[in-house]
Amino acid sequence: MGKTYDVIVVGAGPAAWSAAIFAVRAGMSVLVVGVDSESGLADASDVRNFPGFPEGISGRTLLDNMIVQAKNQGVLYKKQEVTHTEEADGIFMVKTSDLSELRASNLILAHGANYIKANLPGEKEHNGKGVHYCALCDGPIYKGKKVVVLGNANLAAEEAMELSAYVSEVQIVSQSPQVNFSEGYKGLLESKGMQVTLSRVKEIKGDGDIAKSVLLEDGSEISFDALFIALGVASSLDFARQLGLEVAGDFIKVDESMRTSNPKVRAIGMARGGLNQIVKSVGDGGIAAVDLIKSVKGLPSYIDHT
Ligand SMILES: Cc1cc2nc3c(=O)[nH]c(=O)nc-3n(C[C@H](O)[C@H](O)[C@H](O)COP(=O)(O)OP(=O)(O)OC[C@H]3O[C@@H](n4cnc5c(N)ncnc54)[C@H](O)[C@@H]3O)c2cc1C
Repeated sequence: MGKTYDVIVVGAGPAAWSAAIFAVRAGMSVLVVGVDSESGLADASDVRNFPGFPEGISGRTLLDNMIVQAKNQGVLYKKQEVTHTEEADGIFMVKTSDLSELRASNLILAHGANYIKANLPGEKEHNGKGVHYCALCDGPIYKGKKVVVLGNANLAAEEAMELSAYVSEVQIVSQSPQVNFSEGYKGLLESKGMQVTLSRVKEIKGDGDIAKSVLLEDGSEISFDALFIALGVASSLDFARQLGLEVAGDFIKVDESMRTSNPKVRAIGMARGGLNQIVKSVGDGGIAAVDLIKSVKGLPSYIDHT
């Protein structure tokens, strides 16, 4: 039987690396299992709202820096997808796609949540080049420009309202024959005079590399400087189901220490929902790891004296 790690972190995004760095510094054996290229951060072309980088930084570089920082301090990294998790006799077994079976006394679930894609022709090739999924992340790039928001529920209304604070024009395209905005949002959109087009988009068209318009099913086109796809985020609850954890909607339910309904399993970052931003994911990682260190060492509080 192989080694039993103090903790296995499932996922290789910012939440995972943050937790791993804190835990390894407290002397724990830490194995991160995930695929960093699948992290949302790897797709972020220019991160401008993560403190410490006055000129911005590419998400890929930021992630690489986190990985190097974690490995330098002794975190082990297995670049594999986790296929199954289970608990027996207080030990967690983690199975991976290369058929490895790994063991740990504690688990931190940091498997993220993906933006729901519209799966339109032209979407993938223009990702980050006029096609975006987060107004908070990329909206300010389009100050004074025209943007289109794709979606028919409250998230689309919310993104449109946020963008309207600094862009010159926002138009919503519903992608369906009706919208599901709450009364509150309907009123806000009306008060802003925001146009809502009830139509399905057939294609995102570009001029060279950059997305420039959407082609609607009636053959008309709406041009833009940026398209924000606002269909929501989807977490996988596979591991929560396998481990019998309580869930809240699409996400794993946690307390303020990031503990799930199983006190030896913590869930952080987008695996537990909330704000889809790097700062929140790395914050969750720190909180979960410190709680884990305290509980393993039996301490009322933990101070990193190194
Ligand atoms: C295009 C884009 C631009 C963005 N721009 C910004 C920005 O400017 N500022 C900002 O703050 N945020 C930005 N974000 C959001 C930010 O990337 C996320 O909030 C952040 O990455 C979430 O971190 P996380 O660790 O919770 O999840 P993720 O980064 O999504 O990481 C999840 C990890 O879990 C792994 N995983 C999933 N399933 C399994 C499995 N079965 N087995 C093993 N591993 C698994 C994945 O491979 C991945 O490594 C952007 C996101 C995108 C997509």
